[in-house]
Amino acid sequence: MILHPHFDVNEAGHLTVAGVDAVSLAEKYGTPLYLIDTDAVRAMCRLYKNTVKTAFGGASVPAYAGKALCYKGLYRLIAEEGLSADCVSSGELYTAHSAGFPMERVFFHGNNKTDEDLAYALELGVGHVVVDGTDELEALERIAAEKGARAKILLRITPGIDPHTHKKIVTGSVDSKFGMAIATGQAFDFVKAALAAPHIELDGWHCHVGSQIFDIDPFTDACDIMLAFTARVKALFGYTPKILNLGGGMGVRYVEDDPGIDYVKNLTDMGAEFDRMCALYGLEKPAVVLEPGRSIVAAAGATLYTCGSVKTVTGFRNYVSIDGGMPDNPRYALYQSRYTVVNASRAAEKSDFPCTLAGRCCESGDLIAEDAALAQPKRGDIIAVLVTGAYNYSMASNYNRIPRPPVVELSSEGDRLAVRRETREDLLALDL
Ligand SMILES: *Cc1c(COP(=O)(O)O)cnc(C)c1O
Repeated sequence: MILHPHFDVNEAGHLTVAGVDAVSLAEKYGTPLYLIDTDAVRAMCRLYKNTVKTAFGGASVPAYAGKALCYKGLYRLIAEEGLSADCVSSGELYTAHSAGFPMERVFFHGNNKTDEDLAYALELGVGHVVVDGTDELEALERIAAEKGARAKILLRITPGIDPHTHKKIVTGSVDSKFGMAIATGQAFDFVKAALAAPHIELDGWHCHVGSQIFDIDPFTDACDIMLAFTARVKALFGYTPKILNLGGGMGVRYVEDDPGIDYVKNLTDMGAEFDRMCALYGLEKPAVVLEPGRSIVAAAGATLYTCGSVKTVTGFRNYVSIDGGMPDNPRYALYQSRYTVVNASRAAEKSDFPCTLAGRCCESGDLIAEDAALAQPKRGDIIAVLVTGAYNYSMASNYNRIPRPPVVELSSEGDRLAVRRETREDLLALDL
């Protein structure tokens, strides 16, 4: 096993993903290639579904955050597993709807939904719009009135938490483009306005503190702040929410020195704290929604590349270049995210060749890892980057006019092409 149980080495000395030889997958589908072990995704869905229900009470559910990995087949899987979903754009809504996802189980997010987005969400019958601010509330009231509809909503509230993570993915602190802050008092006016709007049905609150969080303190702090807010709102307006949505953000193990995470224990501990706090504030327990994205799909994924140039800059370092890079994985360029890389063709050999894994773009920041060690790579070897299931395909671009790789699903039923490879013709499809 390498890092997670579905990564291993076979007798040929090749990396296996979900028991399948990575080198033969690269031969069959070409590179770069995204792989996703859907049995691993399903296992995480079941873990969340069962544990959230027992830890937080009957009506509590996980909602998969589609921005982590979004294509039709994945929404079908999420629907089959009985999870709700969180969508952040009309494009994600369209994908979910096209896959037959039950739209009443969707939470629609975003700090700047357009009038068209809001109208489209109402047309598709989205379960809850998570309203981000006062002017969006006014827009939704107007659009719902025009349609003779009543929009069910949650309000996005900013609890003001720094989850000790990378600051670009901190979204819950007071100075944020997301939500309305409790600390400034604006959250109370927001509730008052929602309660007064005739075409709006307020079902509760949402908050999201950040991403790649390893311990439960930021979540229990957020829960505490949100329940204290709930108690204040109850005292001020006599209103009690049905739903408390605590967002996503549970971490994932990307490299050996990341801690392992016991998701069941974390969720169970959070549930116990939630019970204690509800009792402390004298509140009936609302249904809790959690929105895991990364922790559902990241570990289930890997990306395969073909090794090209291997270059030593004398006195500096070794560069190993692959046939992908920032167009299919921009996370190192954006956040210096760390990854485990493996020479999939020589996975049984010692990883003793220190190198920087570089992409193929005309951009010196186009790197995937700077502190990598591979078994001596040769042109033509298959190089794997592990734990790429989240925020890789969903963040992919056509920078340098590079076509996006396909997504292949692996499961006990075999391998299946879920998203085909973009072609050169696809690159011209919009050019008039
Ligand atoms: C990004 C995001 C999530 C998912 O976060 P993960 O770190 O992938 O679990 C959930 N909810 C909201 C509102 C988000 O913005």
